[in-house]
Amino acid sequence: MRITCIGGGPAGLYFAVLAKLADPAHEITVLERNPAGVTYGWGVVFWDDLLDDLFRYDPVSAERISRAACRWDEYEVRATGKAVTHLAGYGFSLGRRDLLDILAARAVELGVEIRYRDELTELTEAGAADLVVACDGARSRVRDQHAEHFGAEIEVGRNKYIWLGTSHVFDTFTFGFEQTPAGWIWYHAYPFTADTSTFIVECAPETWAGLGLDSLDAKQGCARLQEIFAAHLGGQPLVDHRAEVGGTGWLNYRRLTNQRWDHGNVVLMGDAAHTTHFAIGSGTKLAMQDAMALADAVSGDDDLAVALERYEHRRKTALAPLQRAAKASSEWFERVPDYVDLPAKQFSYALSNRRGEYPTWRYLLHVATQSAGPRTLLRWALSTRRWHRARRRPGLAAASTAVSRPREPARLTAS
Ligand SMILES: Cc1cc2nc3c(=O)[nH]c(=O)nc-3n(C[C@H](O)[C@H](O)[C@H](O)COP(=O)(O)OP(=O)(O)OC[C@H]3O[C@@H](n4cnc5c(N)ncnc54)[C@H](O)[C@@H]3O)c2cc1C
Repeated sequence: MRITCIGGGPAGLYFAVLAKLADPAHEITVLERNPAGVTYGWGVVFWDDLLDDLFRYDPVSAERISRAACRWDEYEVRATGKAVTHLAGYGFSLGRRDLLDILAARAVELGVEIRYRDELTELTEAGAADLVVACDGARSRVRDQHAEHFGAEIEVGRNKYIWLGTSHVFDTFTFGFEQTPAGWIWYHAYPFTADTSTFIVECAPETWAGLGLDSLDAKQGCARLQEIFAAHLGGQPLVDHRAEVGGTGWLNYRRLTNQRWDHGNVVLMGDAAHTTHFAIGSGTKLAMQDAMALADAVSGDDDLAVALERYEHRRKTALAPLQRAAKASSEWFERVPDYVDLPAKQFSYALSNRRGEYPTWRYLLHVATQSAGPRTLLRWALSTRRWHRARRRPGLAAASTAVSRPREPARLTAS
C-alpha cells in the first residue's frame, strides 16, 4: 500500500513506524513542513498507560523513549499566602524535540521516507497514495479543505495560556498560583531534561489584559511573567519560542471535535481529529494511540472504508471519557477564583479532584499524606507499583533506570 502522512508530529511519525512494522512492503512517505529537528513546544508529560502501549506496539522505540524521559514523583501545589502542599502520583516527561527525533530515526531505520521542508498546500500534492493520513495538527489544512464533510466543531476556551520553557529545573510537577492586582495567574510546570522545564502560564482574559500582557511582545511578556513568578523561578529566565519569529505564543484553548474522520482515502489522526485540554496532558498520548488504532485497522484484510470506519469507532469510544475529563478540568481552571480562598489542603485537593470523580477516602488520604512520614510511605508504595508494572513490559533491558528498583523515593530521575 502507498501511504502518505501529512505532518511529522508524534501521530504521523508513530503511525509510519507501526504501519511499516506491520508490513515492510508498504511505501510510506511523511511530509513535514519544518526542517528536520525543528519544532515548537517544550516537554510533554505522559504516564505508565502510554508506556505500556508503546512497549506492546514497538519495544524498540518504546525503550528509547523510556530512557530519554524524566520521571517525577508527586505534584507540588504553591499558592500566594498558602503552605506548600503535595498530591500523590508520578509521571514522565520528555522534550517534544527528543520524542520526534526518536520517532523519526526509528521510521527512517524501517525504510520510511521523511520529506522535511515539504508543506502540503493542496491535497492533490499528496500524490497517488492509497491512503492519505491527515496528521497535520489542530489547524489541519487537509481537514479545512473538506471542512463541511468532516463536520469540525470548535469550542474556544475562555482563559489565555502560553507554552514557555525555563532553565529553572523544577523538583517535580508543580502548579503555582500567584495573586496580582489584576487577579490570579498560575503555571503548570515540570522538568523534562536535566536543565529545562516546561512552564505553561494560564489566566483569565481580564487578568491577562490587566497585567498588560495583551500589548507586550514575546520578550517583554516573558520579562513581565518573570517578575510575577520570581519566587518560583530561582532567578532563571522564561523563554517564548515565538520571540524568534515575531508575535507571542498566547492562545485560547480550542476544543476540536469532528463528526466524521474519513473522506474517501483521507483519514484524520491526532490533533487534526480531536484536541483535549493541556491541563490533563494527554494530547501526545492520544495522538500516538490513534496511530496504534489506525495501524491495527489498516493492517487487516478489510476493505479500506471498513478499516477506517473501525478505526474511527474504536478511537471515538476510547476518547469520550478523556474528553469529558479534559472539559471538566479546563472548566475548573476557568473557575479558579471560586476555589483559591480555600485553606491550602482543601485547595490542592479541589485541584486534584477537578474532574469530580474521587471517593471521600481520597480526601482523607490527601490530608494524611501532607506530613512527611505518610507522604514518604505513599511515594515508596507508588514507586514499587511502578517498578512492578515496568518489569512486565516486553523488551525492556534491565539497565533502564526507568525501572530501577525504588529505594528512597526519588525527586527526579533522568531515565
Ligand atoms: C500548551 C500545550 C501543552 C501541551 N502539553 C502536553 C503534554 O504535557 N502532554 C501531551 O501529551 N500533550 C501535550 N500537548 C498536546 C500535544 O502537543 C499535541 O496534542 C500533540 O503534539 C498532537 O500530535 P499530532 O502529531 O497530532 O500533531 P502535531 O504535534 O501538531 O504535529 C503536526 C505536524 O504537522 C506539521 N504540519 C502541519 N501542517 C502541515 C502541512 N500543511 N504540510 C506538512 N506538514 C504540516 C507540523 O509542522 C507538525 O510537525 C500540549 C499542547 C499544548 C498547546
